[in-house]
Amino acid sequence: MKAKGEFLFRPRLKKKSWEPEIETHIFKKWLEGGLYIFDEKSDKPLFSIDTPPPYVNTPVHIGQAYTYVWMDVFARYRRMAGYNVLFPMGLDKNGLPVEVQTEKTFNISMHETPREEFIQKCEIILTESGDRSLDTFKRLGLSCNSWEREHRIGGRYETDDPEYRRLTQETFIEFWKNGLVYEDEKTTNYCTVCQTTISDAEVEYEEEKTTLNYIRFKVKETGEDIIIATTRPELLCSCRIVLFNPDDDRYPHLEGKHAIVPIHGHAVEIIAHPYAKPEFGSGLVMVCSFGDYSDVRILRELNIEPVFAIDRTGRMNENAGKYKGLTVDEARETIIKDLNSQDLITKQEEIQQRRPLCWRSKNPVEFVPMKELYLEQVRFKDDILKISDQMTFFAPENKQILIDWINSVDIDWVVSRRRYYGTEVPLWYCKGCSYIYVPEPGRYYQPWRERPPIEKCPECGCTEFRGEERTFDTWFDSATSEVYILGYLWNKGFFKRNFPCSLRPQGKEIVRNWLYFTLLKSHHLFKAPPFENVWIHMHVVDEEGRKMSKSAGNAIDPQDIIDKFGSEAFRIWSGLEGNITRGDIRCSFDRIRGNSKFLTKLWNIARFVSSFPQVFDDYELAPLDKMILSELNDLIDECRKGYEEMNAFIPANAIRTFTWSVFADHCIEAAKSRAYNSGGRFDAKLQRGAWYTLHECLRTILKILAPICPFITEAIWLELYSDESIHIQSFPEKNPELESELRELLSKFIAFNNAVWRYKKEKKVALSQSVPATVYAPEELEPFGEDVTAMHRIESLRFGKPEEKNRMQELAEGTFIDE
Ligand SMILES: [Zn+2]
Ligand SMILES: [Zn+2]
Repeated sequence: MKAKGEFLFRPRLKKKSWEPEIETHIFKKWLEGGLYIFDEKSDKPLFSIDTPPPYVNTPVHIGQAYTYVWMDVFARYRRMAGYNVLFPMGLDKNGLPVEVQTEKTFNISMHETPREEFIQKCEIILTESGDRSLDTFKRLGLSCNSWEREHRIGGRYETDDPEYRRLTQETFIEFWKNGLVYEDEKTTNYCTVCQTTISDAEVEYEEEKTTLNYIRFKVKETGEDIIIATTRPELLCSCRIVLFNPDDDRYPHLEGKHAIVPIHGHAVEIIAHPYAKPEFGSGLVMVCSFGDYSDVRILRELNIEPVFAIDRTGRMNENAGKYKGLTVDEARETIIKDLNSQDLITKQEEIQQRRPLCWRSKNPVEFVPMKELYLEQVRFKDDILKISDQMTFFAPENKQILIDWINSVDIDWVVSRRRYYGTEVPLWYCKGCSYIYVPEPGRYYQPWRERPPIEKCPECGCTEFRGEERTFDTWFDSATSEVYILGYLWNKGFFKRNFPCSLRPQGKEIVRNWLYFTLLKSHHLFKAPPFENVWIHMHVVDEEGRKMSKSAGNAIDPQDIIDKFGSEAFRIWSGLEGNITRGDIRCSFDRIRGNSKFLTKLWNIARFVSSFPQVFDDYELAPLDKMILSELNDLIDECRKGYEEMNAFIPANAIRTFTWSVFADHCIEAAKSRAYNSGGRFDAKLQRGAWYTLHECLRTILKILAPICPFITEAIWLELYSDESIHIQSFPEKNPELESELRELLSKFIAFNNAVWRYKKEKKVALSQSVPATVYAPEELEPFGEDVTAMHRIESLRFGKPEEKNRMQELAEGTFIDE
């Protein structure tokens, strides 16, 4: 039943509920209004975000969608907090994934296709997949500066753009000139699937079951049998030495003697060395070139010339004798058969082994000698640790991932790759002498297809040059993204004023490459940290905490979520459930649907509030108004703090609790009668006080929620409060005039209301019906007397403890009812 007077008030918010279809319309309006376009000349302080350019070969996955939403939250908050926000959209296009996709799609092999033609085919694939990624990001409502590919600060960039590649080459040229780059033939990690050298940062480890084979060797001098255990019998041909531990009393007599390697027949020295572990296998260990990292290290230490058995395609080479041409797995299988047929295997057992894998192809890493370009890092580790200390980490404990990685670095960074779709190493070699030509910075060079910008060799006068064919490790490109977005190529003044970049947001799984290499390059270029803040996000996992993946069948496509519930539902879920201090975040359709109920609630509240006029003067605040406005004041501070700490979880939850459980459930309910002036028993100024409070709360809620829920807040804002977008309003400030001691009474007030509602429910009295008894409320609540009486329709309300307490029913602490 509507109270008298209610019919005078009609909601100005027209739609009855929140409709996600409006999102696209709102997004279009933002674009048309040029709302987020970057202004290089602005006087405001800069807040720059080094957005991770996603690789475009696959659709945007849920983890990315989640991270970009949070970045957008930071960008929107900073904009409202008075910053000039640089939030560019980037796409990563260089490197292996597109090459692999191109080989698959066109059924060709990269190394057998003319380079020019192969690159064109890569571009076809990249254009399609890039558009798809951009579409998802737009639907998520990101407030990036520009969606157009343009060469200016804030413009959308792509890592294969000639301008971007020019920057990569310019940094290399500078390193070369400063003597930080050298070429060397070293044993490097090699992926036979990707057919390229990979850096230590691209190696990951997997626990794997494998067979340990106990193999019989003969001692050349004495003819005795010794047993050596190995997981890689196919490498017997490259066995170079046998070790036993100096403390192992079974073997001292072997020192200096030789072991004859079965099948292959060559003899290798046996020596004492602490690397051999008495408890592993028989305590004797053969060192091959190269089974794993320890082999690489020990051969280097003992100065033994390695023999390589595996070629770049992953097959055994001529050193493997009759196993030549077999793949590693085939060779292992065959040699075990051969050993068995000669009774040379005494035992086999299953063991767990930590195996190095290629980061991208998940193929086991092999070790091959390659002539490659290296960027120095080992001798700068202390300096890099020092500049890491000048960056603030969110959450702070994530810094350790970086520190541990820096401490583990023990070889310089191999930066050259034998691939096609990447930034070219800008070098030319004189065919007449050993002169190497390095061009001047200023443009993008492609030495494999163009002549050097000089006529003849300054050393020998020769006019023939060979252009370098190798490209860079794609991390060498990515590790200068912050330099690129800050306009280093186009506006040196702007760059100088605004470096380092305010924020690097990124995943924890790429700390050792993206973050670390950016730090390294920044050290070499500027001797300074690249960022003020580093935000490291957690992963999105399924309901059971398992990693989401297509192959496991538990992946959720963010496009499906947006289609079903709208982007805002995804965004509010990511705020309410993600917490950077608490690890991974669980995701399911149910969770997103559940959290989206808050949007419905918010819309209903806004619609109710919109029934009343907005007033700015001639009002008087009732104690209830003062209490809620003071609580709202505190909420502003809490949200600001959460946003500053880059933890959207804090404002999202604080806003939901306030809006739903305090403002809607209690304060709106209590102020309703006064706002309608039901029964005409309220003073006109107090009625206006209720109107003011309702609108002030709603306006503030919308503003502080806008960074997380940009669509629904904008829709309500534009319909009720302004023609100007909510996203260019200032973030609310705490208002000292609204501080009130009455705030202390909020929990008592809530407890009292709950007690009365519970009582009515027990007695099956409708909420709109009166309580035909005397209710005693805690004394402190007396200031709210009128609102409370009207709210609960209490016939007789008294404050303070009743005298004959034992005769009454106690509903809650301090609340009694006289039945
Ligand atoms: Zn690989
Ligand atoms: Zn020359």
